[in-house]
Amino acid sequence: MSTKRKKLLLINPLNTGTKGLIIHKQVIYPPLGLGIIATLTPDDWDVELLDENFDSFEFKDADLVALTALTSSVTRAYEIADIYRKKGIASVLGGIHASMMPGEAMKLVDSVVIGEVESVWPTLIEDFENGELRKSYTGKLLSMENAVKPRRDLFHKDYNFASIQTTRGCPMSCDFCSVHTFNGNSYRLRPVAEVLDELETLEHNLVYFVDDNLIGYGKRSQQRAIELFKGIIERGIKIEWFCSASMNFADNEEVLRLASASGCRMVLLGIESERIDQLQDMNKKLNVSMGIDSYEVVFNKIHKHGIAVLGAFIYGLQTDTPESMVARTEYINNASIDAVQATILTPLPGTGLFNRMTEEGKITMNDYPNNWQHYHFGKVVFKHDTMQYEVITSEIAKNWDKLYNEKILKKKFIRTLKQTKSPIAGIWSYGSNLQYYNLVFEHDESRPQLDLVDIFGLKEFESNPFL
Ligand code: SF4
Repeated sequence: MSTKRKKLLLINPLNTGTKGLIIHKQVIYPPLGLGIIATLTPDDWDVELLDENFDSFEFKDADLVALTALTSSVTRAYEIADIYRKKGIASVLGGIHASMMPGEAMKLVDSVVIGEVESVWPTLIEDFENGELRKSYTGKLLSMENAVKPRRDLFHKDYNFASIQTTRGCPMSCDFCSVHTFNGNSYRLRPVAEVLDELETLEHNLVYFVDDNLIGYGKRSQQRAIELFKGIIERGIKIEWFCSASMNFADNEEVLRLASASGCRMVLLGIESERIDQLQDMNKKLNVSMGIDSYEVVFNKIHKHGIAVLGAFIYGLQTDTPESMVARTEYINNASIDAVQATILTPLPGTGLFNRMTEEGKITMNDYPNNWQHYHFGKVVFKHDTMQYEVITSEIAKNWDKLYNEKILKKKFIRTLKQTKSPIAGIWSYGSNLQYYNLVFEHDESRPQLDLVDIFGLKEFESNPFL
């Protein structure tokens, strides 16, 4: 007797308001969480992935639909879930937004996964098969040993970078960040051998380590990073990669040397502000303890190993003024920072910032869930303490102009080449700058979206994965 196979449709929703980030589709990364769900789904299910990063949405029949979403893409996720709800097909939503706002999500989808999915997905499927799907499932923070590997065969073939995770959790508690709420305060590490085994299975030679901090804090995690990088070299895994880390990335020369030798070409550092009082306000403890004066030393050490610095900064902090934002821009343009991720302070659910601003009635974009689509770090969604909306918005735009104009981008590119002596570090950081340029000026019709070839007229750059 044959039983009909069931079908799970995985959907990666896209906030169409942030197309600028993906105008060059090669710079986006496969949805690892959905790949993990696919691995955990029993063999008698067919699994398909609809990835709006590449595919236009079209209704596909399924027994169960599972979506993941950030805050900025959750409005779209709810829209899609509603399409399925109207057809009588159950939808499940997981990811960081649903985990931080489960009450909201439960009203709009049939079931919500709160927290990490691994410990609950098999039960959820079993309950669904028995007609007993619950409104919510709360995942545990499991050890990272024997971590479930994503089904990469489902990911779109046009992703240029593979993504891989080697740690979860963060012992810090920055005021604007919800990582420690979602993944917990303890820094959980995957065994190095398991990471290396997974790296060996990747079909890409460009890799993004999605960890919030690949190097971690303290001697044990530094040692683990060393073992990981040595392992990549010893096993002959030929990759070029980038990652996020904190300002302690340059603490240990051996870490830098081996990172570079194993293929590191760029690192994103959460610098946030060049003002110590603002770092204190946002509880950015490590940056405070290191002191702003040490940053240039950090950048230079990183450069010496052929690695570019992608500095993340926040504009529109409550203690910012038009003058302080100009000072931030000048700091960034003068410092040895190769690429800049300049974003607007955004109170994400699950953060101290969100809770406080909500209590104080400062959030202006609060028509949820519709307004979540504006929480993409490119829009002011709150009432600033001293600047009117029009003032803060126009002042930030002026600063972005100074950060991302062609002249400064070219200057930075040349400087990166000189400092890192690595064409790839230069091209990656230049490509990242263009990517952020395209994002921040996405809705400005006076500025066409840029390709690096448009600025330099160099055809050989066309193969740059960041373009
Ligand atoms: S911003 Fe980085 S260091 Fe701070 S809590 Fe989030 S992940 Fe941790």
